[in-house]
Amino acid sequence: MRKLILHIPHSSTNIPFFDGYIVDKQKITKEIEKLTDWYTDDLFGTETDDKVITPFSRIFCDVERFEDDNQEEMARFGMGVLYEKFDNGDTLRTVTPELRKTILQNYYRKHHEKLLNLVKSSLEAKGKCLIVDCHSFPEESFNCAVNKSSFRPDFNIGTDSFHTPKRLIEISKRYFEELGYSLGIDEPYSGSIVPMEYYKKDERVQSIMLEVNRKLYLSRTEKSDGYEKIKEVVQGYLKLLKKTTKLYTLNQALTSKLKNLEWITSYMKDDRFKNVRFKHYIEDDKFLGFEFISEWIDLVSDLEEFNRLEINRIPLIVGDQFDMLPAVITEIKELKTPIIAVLRQQLWDEEIKGLSICSVNLKKKPITAYLARKELVNFK
Ligand SMILES: [Zn+2]
Repeated sequence: MRKLILHIPHSSTNIPFFDGYIVDKQKITKEIEKLTDWYTDDLFGTETDDKVITPFSRIFCDVERFEDDNQEEMARFGMGVLYEKFDNGDTLRTVTPELRKTILQNYYRKHHEKLLNLVKSSLEAKGKCLIVDCHSFPEESFNCAVNKSSFRPDFNIGTDSFHTPKRLIEISKRYFEELGYSLGIDEPYSGSIVPMEYYKKDERVQSIMLEVNRKLYLSRTEKSDGYEKIKEVVQGYLKLLKKTTKLYTLNQALTSKLKNLEWITSYMKDDRFKNVRFKHYIEDDKFLGFEFISEWIDLVSDLEEFNRLEINRIPLIVGDQFDMLPAVITEIKELKTPIIAVLRQQLWDEEIKGLSICSVNLKKKPITAYLARKELVNFK
């Protein structure tokens, strides 16, 4: 399974040293309580993904800010990469050029180097990478917030027009909607981290930010009753990002050098299947007009897009052509609706991972197709 790069910048409460702070530790602690993305290292943390967890508090050095204050809009609030002000505007710390140099060199740049190296090695190994920028936000907006909109959704994704594929936004929308949560898209927080070396230059570096409203899992600085549930939601989202598949056209599938496609050719040669028709969805009038939606297969917003995807798709099996997959059909008899089979492909490394069967619900009007999904074959 594909690895994500989890960037978790604001979970730590650690201040490595107190040089420059002009207030007592109690005040600093209070500010830490307010600004920390509590437990995001645990909420988002997985065993299998690459993680960059900042080991110091944002009040010491905020790795999500630009190093150069001239590029950083929060610097005008005294909250650039090295905070000099509290969120309420009071003075927190005096940053001398020397202090600045020390912290940037020993903390900020080390953090970004780590992220950059993970991105580099992922690109080398897989040709792509997906960074998930992991945050949480308070129900009441900060004083210094750039966007003080009263819209405080349950979750918020941040996107970048260059580095966030549209498909990911669609998938996210659907995921949170189906679970009954409100989702802000670039609202109230926008953007997602990408190492400067690749920023707006290399589309293979993909990035999306997820912000969780703290009211869902936090009570002051403690985990609330909702914590475990929200952790499941967040973990489910990360899994979804990894498993997302896309459709292949027949031509693409047969002409490109996809991995693990041998099964199709052997399948086509198999005598048991010699009478099986492969047909294009679009040729069968009866089935035109669906809106076909599935986070597992593909997401389309209109018929035109659906048809475009369906042309030459492989292998599409509808209705009574069940003989094609005898071993499987017994399992899905209970669906009692036409089914289609689609190749399941990993979005990120473009490897074919298996074959899925979906049942199509013809009863709803306007026809919204498809329901259930069965994973038939999982390829290594
Ligand atoms: Zn944050």
